[in-house]
Amino acid sequence: MAIHVWDHRLEYENEREDILDAVDTVFRSDQLILGDSVRGFEAEFAAYHGVAHCVGVDNGTNAVKLGLQALGVGPGDEVITVSNTAAPTVLAIDGAGATPVFVDVHPDTYLMDTGKVAAAITERTKALVPVHLYGQMVDLAPLQELAAAHGLKILEDCAQSHGARQNGRLAGTTGEAGAFSFYPTKVLGAYGDAGGVITSDDEAEANLRRLRYYGMEDRYYVVRTPGHNARLDEVHAEILRRKLRRLDDYIAARRAIAGRYAEALADTDLILPKIAPGNDHVYYLYVVRHPARDEILKALREFDFNFRVSYPWPVHTMTGFAHLGYSTGDLPETEVAAHEIFSLPMYPALPEDLQDKVITTLRKILDRG
Ligand SMILES: *Cc1c(COP(=O)(O)O)cnc(C)c1O
Repeated sequence: MAIHVWDHRLEYENEREDILDAVDTVFRSDQLILGDSVRGFEAEFAAYHGVAHCVGVDNGTNAVKLGLQALGVGPGDEVITVSNTAAPTVLAIDGAGATPVFVDVHPDTYLMDTGKVAAAITERTKALVPVHLYGQMVDLAPLQELAAAHGLKILEDCAQSHGARQNGRLAGTTGEAGAFSFYPTKVLGAYGDAGGVITSDDEAEANLRRLRYYGMEDRYYVVRTPGHNARLDEVHAEILRRKLRRLDDYIAARRAIAGRYAEALADTDLILPKIAPGNDHVYYLYVVRHPARDEILKALREFDFNFRVSYPWPVHTMTGFAHLGYSTGDLPETEVAAHEIFSLPMYPALPEDLQDKVITTLRKILDRG
């Protein structure tokens, strides 16, 4: 049986009654779209973060895109982000009508190198989109200083960092807005597509509610364009409400697995995840690094291990983003990391015997040299 980096089926067996009850609750309710479950989840997710608002949307890509539009970002604006991210971060900036501008990542964390941001700021820069990739946060203090000095908005891409903290502050609560994906694999995942934006900015919240609902304020009357149909679905909202109560347990389980990997692999020549000062990592992914990555992955496949690389192609080198004008060589740390990193299986319900199998198999391959 192939071993996957992620698998939802064990979690579903553990939580099946609650998940089915969530579905039943919605199907028996009087409103199937934007009803009590969406409102309830929005209130509870905002409360978890200690912010004023959460607006549920249909996926993480639209959380970033509508989040930017709600902050006034649009055509003619530049938005600074990274190329080592899920392509949707960049598609969302592009989709908002703005121009993505990339800075390189730090070689220890593979996160935005905040020391490189100042040089990328121009008169057209409107916003910064730090991506809290893999489960730990980009150092936000230097970005806040730059944002204050240049009048920029910060939208945090929190799609991989639900519950992560930096000096005690939760991901998504420092910038003007935090965009989340609840794609099933994420630290807080629905059973299909879902997303949300948190903010304490009342105007951004009002904009988001219109943006996700055809640009309407009240039924059938459009007050602004662009408008989208980008609503969070009731069924997923109700499942997310149930799972939010378990979020801290999921994170604890991820940390326990990360601890076992770290201990068992410490004396190998794999480079293990490094945690930046002040960060509490939630281990959405357990990303390791080795110069012979491709040979290791090939050997792992022979043992039926289906490991993944997040991400094998830096966004700025993809043909779909050729219009941005970057070429290979522009972001050296991003490019070398893409050739050397890979992710070990990681999800809260990952059984101990599978963790052990991952460890022993990896050690066998690494010892072979
Ligand atoms: C998953 C992800 C997204 C996109 O979320 P979807 O729900 O798949 O649209 C955006 N940014 C990052 C960093 C992600 O990991």
